[in-house]
Amino acid sequence: MQKWNYGIVLKKCSFNESTMDTLIFATNNPNKVKEVKSLLNSRLVVLSLSDAGIIIDIPEPFDTLEENAYEKARVIHEITGSNCFAEDTGLMVASLNGEPGVKSARYAGENKSAEENIDKLLFNLKDKSNRKAQFKTIISIIIGDTHHIFDGICKGIITYERKGRSGFGYDSIFVPEGSAKTFAEMTLEEKNIFSHRKKAFEKLMNFLTHP
Ligand code: IMP
Repeated sequence: MQKWNYGIVLKKCSFNESTMDTLIFATNNPNKVKEVKSLLNSRLVVLSLSDAGIIIDIPEPFDTLEENAYEKARVIHEITGSNCFAEDTGLMVASLNGEPGVKSARYAGENKSAEENIDKLLFNLKDKSNRKAQFKTIISIIIGDTHHIFDGICKGIITYERKGRSGFGYDSIFVPEGSAKTFAEMTLEEKNIFSHRKKAFEKLMNFLTHP
């Protein structure tokens, strides 16, 4: 696998010890941090990159969620030497042959907003009656010199228009199976009943509890 070098700024770290109970979450997305922190048990401490004083923009250069998640975890592990995990998520839409998939963050192009990604997706789906889609999250965790992968899938449908104001990304156009609401119409606790990220993170927590 190709290795990439990134521009990194290490501020004064707000922690000085890493145990299996302290994990750095290699993301700059505050929404993901908020979701994951809402799922923690009392044994586990999760530090975001900003909590850990690390300023870095890690691109997602690969064609699979697994490789991108591993790359983010690898880079942060290399910098800090600490146990850490990263995740990569994609939205796969059946009638678009699985697009936007691993390119979900950049569907409308580099540096485009979540709203522009949604506009493009709704436009490409405007004549499609099959609205089936799924979110998939891959978590890659590095503990010491071992690496583990966990996944979580949430099936649902894409709406014809945006509904709700909570959440982030594609939340306002995704209704999970078993609900009549979009993720953006839910509280975080409601989203966690269905969420791909919650399912993957639960597997990770089970692994940490019963390795
Ligand atoms: P990434 O994992 O940060 O690369 O996310 C890929 C794309 O999916 C980004 O546009 C995110 O905003 C979006 N995304 C990731 N997770 C979710 C989610 O739970 N709900 C809605 N959109 C999401």
